[in-house]
Amino acid sequence: MSTAPEPTAPEATAADSAAVPGSATPRTVAFIGLGVMGGPMAANLVRHGHRVIGFNRSRPAVDRLVAAGGEAAAGVADAVREAEIVFTMLPDSPDVESVVLGADGVLAQARPGTRVIDMSTIRPDVARRLAEAGAERGIPVLDAPVSGGEAGAKEGVLSVMVGGTPEDFAAVRPVLAALGTTIVHVGPAGSGQTVKAANQLITAGNLQMLAEALVFLEAHEVDTASALEVIGGGLAGSTILARKGAAMRERNFQPGFRAELHHKDLGIVQSAARDARLVLPLTALVAQLIAALNARGEGHLDHSALVTLVETFSGRRQP
Ligand code: NAD
Repeated sequence: MSTAPEPTAPEATAADSAAVPGSATPRTVAFIGLGVMGGPMAANLVRHGHRVIGFNRSRPAVDRLVAAGGEAAAGVADAVREAEIVFTMLPDSPDVESVVLGADGVLAQARPGTRVIDMSTIRPDVARRLAEAGAERGIPVLDAPVSGGEAGAKEGVLSVMVGGTPEDFAAVRPVLAALGTTIVHVGPAGSGQTVKAANQLITAGNLQMLAEALVFLEAHEVDTASALEVIGGGLAGSTILARKGAAMRERNFQPGFRAELHHKDLGIVQSAARDARLVLPLTALVAQLIAALNARGEGHLDHSALVTLVETFSGRRQP
């Protein structure tokens, strides 16, 4: 049995008292991209006692962060100058490339030793390239895409899949705890994005099957609220059903997760599958269905609008 004395608790500081109990040491962090996901994520970092300096292309998102206790930056350079950690949460690979690699971008403007955590969903090969460029400047870049949607971002219960070195993961993990409850190091740079691609093919397939089940139930005039309740308690239950079922019944397609972003993600999946000489038939099919949603001008809707395609195919909705 160990005879070592119990460790004594460190003295509380003013910063500790402002923080959520159990939070990491307060850090100065920059947050670039304050949209559907980034806005609530940055607010959660504030709640956990961190100093958060935010920048977004459109100003209202920055104002919301300031109202939540963050600080406004005039641009990327302004946001990252004093930061110990820089978060990015942007739509697509080219957005992240320009913000991180641009002349006035993160790598050019942040101090060496700053860590960059890209939480956007982008191509794994781009994530690896960003990490290589960061290494040349002494600025580690981790890929840490998330799953859990807008609700998960607001509640701070995201799943975070992290690619990078074990040392960099260990250094940022306490800060990531403000954003998620399942935070897993999945391998070297780019691995987080590969895992996220797998996540997105599972999500799309699940959503499509839920859409088909819902239209099937409606056609048979079953009470869909009761049906989804009981299905949700069994093997066919899922987070997708729990999070999206009610809105799909009501045909409320306010995002959430825009179909155009899922279209982007399934492009990433298919290209990575091709690189590995894989055949993923159901992924290809559901990618086409999400593409159809986008082609008919509904990319701005939540991806659960897949249910409207099932109705159209079945002659239950005008195209
Ligand atoms: P969003 O479009 O709501 O937010 C992106 C934000 O980035 C916008 O506010 C936009 O103004 C800002 N922006 C774009 N370019 C910029 C630039 N150059 N400089 C500064 N700001 C810029 O998108 P989102 O739903 O928050 O998604 C962000 C990322 O997270 C995407 O890669 C998406 O695939 C991924 N994701 C989204 C969800 C979801 O449910 N919405 C879930 C998991 C992952």
